[in-house]
Amino acid sequence: KFISFEGPDGAGKTSVMRQIKADLEEQFGADRVMYTREPGGNHISEQIRRVLFNADNTDMDARTEALLFAAARRQHIVSEILPALQEDKVILCDRYVDSSIAYQGAGRHLGEQEIWQLNQFAIDGLLPELTVYLDVPSEVGLRRIAEHRSDQVNRLDKEKLAFHHLVRHSFLRLQQAHPDRIKLVDASQPLAKVVADVKQVINARYPE
Ligand code: C5P
Ligand code: MG
Repeated sequence: KFISFEGPDGAGKTSVMRQIKADLEEQFGADRVMYTREPGGNHISEQIRRVLFNADNTDMDARTEALLFAAARRQHIVSEILPALQEDKVILCDRYVDSSIAYQGAGRHLGEQEIWQLNQFAIDGLLPELTVYLDVPSEVGLRRIAEHRSDQVNRLDKEKLAFHHLVRHSFLRLQQAHPDRIKLVDASQPLAKVVADVKQVINARYPE
């Protein structure tokens, strides 16, 4: 079982996935469930991750960034996902190809089709059976990240808001284009309700 989790910043993906993992471990046994994150999950992809998220690399070209995400994804598939699928595990993957389309394709203006094409080479046809898309309005997502900071909206915040909008609407378009694979969950709800909705989506996809 290959399930990816997607969503814009502030959707609560980390908290939701932690609870879903615990729940599935109870259901299937701890050794049958694998949580893994993108980019990373193995020593090669973790090295690429460090390049991508290094604060010194703010001058990184957007296409370079897209290529590195795709490279990390490829290695992650080979080192982590394919072996786990072979062992019939439940794979909970924190971000996958849809994030590249939303962040690099839409957010960084590289083009959704272009990023899709680039990633075809990396994923070589491997898509999740189910993608849980945690949807959150941009204002709510950014407010969650900013937490207690409630200073007035400055220029930087407006830029963040515009970027967040691009990313979110790309995710929404992806969901509409692939409604069988991508299931939307309203992540603006309280955490317990979001988790319950995600469980329902997973159970519907994998009825016992
Ligand atoms: O919330 P999470 O830990 O998954 O966030 C990782 C960060 O990496 C996101 O805030 C996002 O800005 C960035 N990212 C990206 N392009 C991707 C995946 C993640 O810019 N393809
Ligand atoms: Mg996060």
